[in-house]
Amino acid sequence: MAEYKSKVLIIGSGPAGYTAGIYAARAGLKPVLVSGTQVGGQLTITTEVENFPGFPEPIQGGELMQRMRDQAQNVGVQMIDDTITEIDFEHRPFVCSSENANSFVGDSLIIATGASARWLGLPSEEKFRGFGVSACATCDGFFYRNVAVVGGGNSALEEALYLTNFAKNVTIIHRRDAFRADKTMQERVAQNHKINVIWNCVVEEILGTESPLGVTGLRLKNVKTDNTTDVAVDGVFIAIGHHPNTDLVKGHLHLDKENYIVTKHNSCETSIKGVFAAGDVRDPQYRQAIIAAGSGCIAALEAEKYLNELGEQKNAVKPEAV
Ligand code: FAD
Ligand code: NAP
Repeated sequence: MAEYKSKVLIIGSGPAGYTAGIYAARAGLKPVLVSGTQVGGQLTITTEVENFPGFPEPIQGGELMQRMRDQAQNVGVQMIDDTITEIDFEHRPFVCSSENANSFVGDSLIIATGASARWLGLPSEEKFRGFGVSACATCDGFFYRNVAVVGGGNSALEEALYLTNFAKNVTIIHRRDAFRADKTMQERVAQNHKINVIWNCVVEEILGTESPLGVTGLRLKNVKTDNTTDVAVDGVFIAIGHHPNTDLVKGHLHLDKENYIVTKHNSCETSIKGVFAAGDVRDPQYRQAIIAAGSGCIAALEAEKYLNELGEQKNAVKPEAV
C-alpha cells in the first residue's frame, strides 16, 4: 500500500492516457499514470493498424502501444499497474482508491478509461463465454475452425478477416442488409472466399454441449420474416461495438444518454473543474486511436492551464486596505 501524489493523475493507458502523459511530463508536471487491467488499451487486442500516421507499413496494435508506453516512460511519466476503484470528487486534491489498496492523489485528473466490448446479453452467451464465445479474435481465434462473427462495423469485418488465418469458414451475421464498416474493409471481405455473410439476422440463442462445455451452433432469427434457422459453428465472436468505461464517474460527471462523458465544446473539460476526459470515454462518434491521442494532448494542455490558474489564485496577494 502506497500513496502517489501528482499534479496530474491520468487514469488509463490507451492512446489518450499515454499522450496526455507525454504532454504533461514535457510540461514538467511529473504525471502519474494508472494503467488499468488492459495495459495499452484496446489496440493491444488487434493485429495490424494501418491508419495511425507515422507508420508507412502496418504496425501491430500491441507494438504501437508498447512504443507509446516507452515514449511516455522516457519523458518521465510514472506508470503504476493498478486499477482505480473510487474517486472522491468532493475534496481538493482529488483522492482515488485502487484495487491494490493504493491511494492516488491528484491536483487535476485526466479520465482516459476508454471503452469495452458490448455483449448481446443472452444467457447462453454468458454461459459459453470462454468456451466458444469471445469478443477478441486475436486472443481466441486460433482455437476454432468454423466460426461466426456478429456485427457489421469495422471491428466485425476486421475480426472476420483475421479469423480466415485459422478457420475454414467464417460467417458474418449482421442485423441489417448493409455494413457500417469502411468501404476498404467491405471490399476485402467481399474478395475473401472463406467469408460469407448472413444479412438481416440476429442471434436468438447460442447452442452447445454441456460436457464438455462448448459451442456447436447458433439459432438465428431473420428480422424481416421472423423465421429461425440453426447454423453450425464451433466459435462465435461478438463484435457489436463498445460502451464507455464510465462506472467510476457515474453520478459525479455529466454523462450523455449513452453514458459517454460530456465535455465542453472544443475542449476536454468536464462538468467538474480540474477533471478532464480524453479518448473514447468522451467520444460516441469517431472512436479512433489518433483522435484519442489528440484529445489526450488537449486534456494535458488544459490541465496545465488549470494548474497555472490554481497557482495564481493561491499566490495572489490581497491588495491592502487603504
Ligand atoms: P482505450 O484504448 O480503451 O484504453 C483505456 C484504458 O483505460 C486501458 O488501458 C484500461 O486498462 C484503462 N482503464 C479502464 N478503467 C480503468 C480504471 N478503473 N483504472 C485504471 N485504468 C482503467 N482505431 C484506429 O484508429 N485504428 C485501428 O486500426 C483500430 N482498430 C481497432 C481494433 C479493435 C479490435 C478495436 C476494439 C478498436 C480499434 N480501434 C482502432 C479503436 C481504438 O482502439 C480506440 O479508439 C482507442 O484505443 C481509444 O483509446 P483510449 O485511450 O481512449 O482508450
Ligand atoms: P460500431 O461501429 O459501433 O459497429 C457495431 C456494429 O454492431 C454495427 O454494425 C451494429 O449494427 C452492430 N450491433 C450493435 N448492437 C447490436 C446488437 N445488439 N445485435 C446485433 N448487432 C449489433 O462498433 P465497432 O465496429 O466496434 O467500431 C467502434 C469504433 O472503432 C468505430 O469508430 C470504428 O471505426 C473503430 N474501429 C476502427 C478500425 C479500423 O480503422 N481499422 C477497426 C475496428 C474499429 P448497425 O450497423 O445496424 O447499427
